[in-house]
Amino acid sequence: MKSLKELTRPNIWALKPYSSARDEYSGKQAQIFLDANENPYNTPNNRYPDPRQRELKAVIGNIKEISPEHIFLGNGSDEAIDLVYRAFCEPRIDNVVAIEPTYGMYAVCADVNDVEYRSVQLNSKYDFTAESLLEVADEHTKFIWLCSPNNPTGNNLNRKEIVKLLETFEGLVILDEAYNDFSSEPSFIRSLGKYPNLIVFQTFSKAMGCAAIRLGMAFASEEIIEILSKIKYPYNVNQLTQIEALKMLQRHYEVEGWVKTLKAARESLMDMFRQLDVVEIVYPSDANFFLTKVTDAGRIYDYLVNKGIIIRNRSSVKLCDQCLRITVGTPHENNALVEALKAYNK
Ligand SMILES: *Cc1c(COP(=O)(O)O)cnc(C)c1O
Repeated sequence: MKSLKELTRPNIWALKPYSSARDEYSGKQAQIFLDANENPYNTPNNRYPDPRQRELKAVIGNIKEISPEHIFLGNGSDEAIDLVYRAFCEPRIDNVVAIEPTYGMYAVCADVNDVEYRSVQLNSKYDFTAESLLEVADEHTKFIWLCSPNNPTGNNLNRKEIVKLLETFEGLVILDEAYNDFSSEPSFIRSLGKYPNLIVFQTFSKAMGCAAIRLGMAFASEEIIEILSKIKYPYNVNQLTQIEALKMLQRHYEVEGWVKTLKAARESLMDMFRQLDVVEIVYPSDANFFLTKVTDAGRIYDYLVNKGIIIRNRSSVKLCDQCLRITVGTPHENNALVEALKAYNK
């Protein structure tokens, strides 16, 4: 791996971060806070939140068995996706490499940051080889995006190839594990010690059932986390989010129940899809959604919208011609979808 200094933009490497009032004071014993120009009335919303989210990181660290210095928290994974470009990629000079199809935000944030985005199509099994990505990388490639289980295809990427990439690529490898809770494969979090170039993204938006609160997590070496932390907005995770996340973590056992239920529902919904006349292929899934190739994606999508059922039409995405992406819902929602499709006239 190249040194982190070589991989980081020079202005970011040299940056002295803004130091907020709540950053400079970190003890707990004080009673009187006259340091941040807050209004003393309207407790508790009058106070700025902890900019370093110490309590929340401690709890997440306990659950994930990782120390807080290896955790970055952001306003959804979307914030972390944007921050890695701003930290590592010099606009118009550096580039990143990604698989295609994958999560759309990686390319959008590259465009916003004026960074070249080089994508490599997955093979017919929606999988990749390390070699195919390394082939398009050059000395200006700062990081490679991987998403496993991948969105919108639903499958896990080949673990051996991920490892090969981690071992041979000189830059960073960012592995988005938004759907790992639903997967049969373990998280790569346990491999962070072995691969200093690895950044793992997870989120509260999917299995944790907290998309509304906007909380994303990045796990990486202490040095990488320090870089992301110094360029984030000082109060990027608001107080209401920190409180809700802590409450959710207290009933963490419920998440395991949801995951179990959703995985079973996914299998039965996929079975029912295989029997539908309109369905040509049901792709394997390790997530809480699956991709399916149908006879006429556009018409079926419109038909379902008319019935008040919204799914995702991915037909315009490369390698996803005539494909719909179906999120697994409650039994009632899943049955309504299947019944509607049974009544569809080709
Ligand atoms: C849904 C999703 C996320 C979650 O993003 P948030 O900003 O945390 O809601 C991240 N990555 C992928 C691939 C996703 O599909």
